[in-house]
Amino acid sequence: MRREGSCHCGGIAFDVEGEFASAMDCNCSMCRRRGGLLAFVPRDKLTLKTPTEKVSTYQFNKHQIAHHFCATCGIAPYGEGKGPNGAMMAAINLRCVPSIDLATLEIQKINGASF
Ligand SMILES: [Zn+2]
Repeated sequence: MRREGSCHCGGIAFDVEGEFASAMDCNCSMCRRRGGLLAFVPRDKLTLKTPTEKVSTYQFNKHQIAHHFCATCGIAPYGEGKGPNGAMMAAINLRCVPSIDLATLEIQKINGASF
């Protein structure tokens, strides 16, 4: 199923293809501050509909994940990185996909602080 997502101001907007029944709630040093609910999809399931110049990027630790955010409104809709098999993945912040009822998601606690 194809769904639309965006940051708050609309500077970053995208379509994402996938079934989203669960999300990850991570406790790493960044996620605990940012508070997103993440779901991974192959990168080619994410289609950015706005110019890439609107996408700001933050990296930390081993710089394996590009944490993208909007410099205008501060919202972080997605990230990009390589999965365990080397394929490019996108981590979608399901809080930025309005058609998903967050209350129905099965929340998986991820102990990112231990990675
Ligand atoms: Zn924005």
